[in-house]
Amino acid sequence: MLFLEHFGVTDAGRVRKNNEDSLLVGDGKDETLFAVADGIGGFEAGEVASSITIDVLREMEPGDSFEEAVREANRRILEAARNDERLSGMGTTVVAARFSGTQREPIAEVAHVGDSRAYLLRDGELTPITEDHSLVAELVRSGDLTRAQASNHPQRNLITRALGADEEVEVDSTTLPVRADDRVVLCSDGLSDMVPEDRIREILATSPEDPETPARRLLTAALEAGGTDNITVVVVDIRQHSPQEERSGTQEMEAVPAPEVRERSRTSPRGKAPSRREQRRDAQRSAVKRRGKGPKSGFTRTAGTLTRAFAIVLVVLLALAPAYLWGSSRYFLDLDGGEVVAYRGLPYAPLGVELNEEWRRTNIKESDIREPYRDNVTEHKLYTRGETEKILRDLRS
Ligand code: MN
Repeated sequence: MLFLEHFGVTDAGRVRKNNEDSLLVGDGKDETLFAVADGIGGFEAGEVASSITIDVLREMEPGDSFEEAVREANRRILEAARNDERLSGMGTTVVAARFSGTQREPIAEVAHVGDSRAYLLRDGELTPITEDHSLVAELVRSGDLTRAQASNHPQRNLITRALGADEEVEVDSTTLPVRADDRVVLCSDGLSDMVPEDRIREILATSPEDPETPARRLLTAALEAGGTDNITVVVVDIRQHSPQEERSGTQEMEAVPAPEVRERSRTSPRGKAPSRREQRRDAQRSAVKRRGKGPKSGFTRTAGTLTRAFAIVLVVLLALAPAYLWGSSRYFLDLDGGEVVAYRGLPYAPLGVELNEEWRRTNIKESDIREPYRDNVTEHKLYTRGETEKILRDLRS
């Protein structure tokens, strides 16, 4: 199963007092959505424009139109500017990326207006996904400037498109296939103006472990280069669960016992017995070992039943796949060693592959669970992240 790891950082820089950049790092209604907006306009108006835009994106549901959301943000910025003359003339750029598609063909959709950028790092190569809507970028496209000349051009911050400039806003959007180990980066010009692309590439390519390290290193590089503008960097890594986990699901189809699609049951207190997850892993391991050694006839006899069971599970999985492809949108609670643990994903392990991962351990003991929360834990109801956080807060208080 593919999943996303992400980290975003923003900083006012070394010269400006205010930070007019805003960002969205997977904390909207669509948790696969990431965005950077770079506000324009004095007296904190830029901040207002960029945060209006991020607020609109935060409310986007999976599947909502990017263009429509950007147009809505544009309308709200214009309206806010009309109602408050201190805000008149404010505007913002935006670059946004979200991840969807199918397990076989995952995609990233990227939309932008202005000169905030998206890049793709794949196999150590850095490719721009967006083309700036700026004067110098247009001069580069027409052949009047080279990319290198553009990066030092005195008018390089002059953008030709922004939200808040006009009743109509033209949004550029593109869809690109992505795969495991791709890294998508969104940034404001506070990074791309200060740090050459070669250096951006080098930093991204030499810190593969997690998204936080390269995001912080890029910020540091921009600050060290002068930090004359607000700097925002969002790094999104596309990951795949370990090959071992994947294999145990796909190759052991005939050998693994019936798929476990029933609910998790309560576990014994810590230390007395392995958790269900551990038991399940052990069962998978022994199933793998048994395979090939055991008498073939045993498998053949039950093959019909198992095939049907797997077929049903596969149909269910395929139906759920688009919603849960990125494994990041649903949460549930369970007990592990007598402790309440929040998991991300689905409470099933069809074909022996866990569709979830541990998200947060709580130190809340089974005996401390009050009504009405007992049901939330034992019935594995699915929640959004916000709901899960609220339940955990309630349980603690
Ligand atoms: Mn900027």
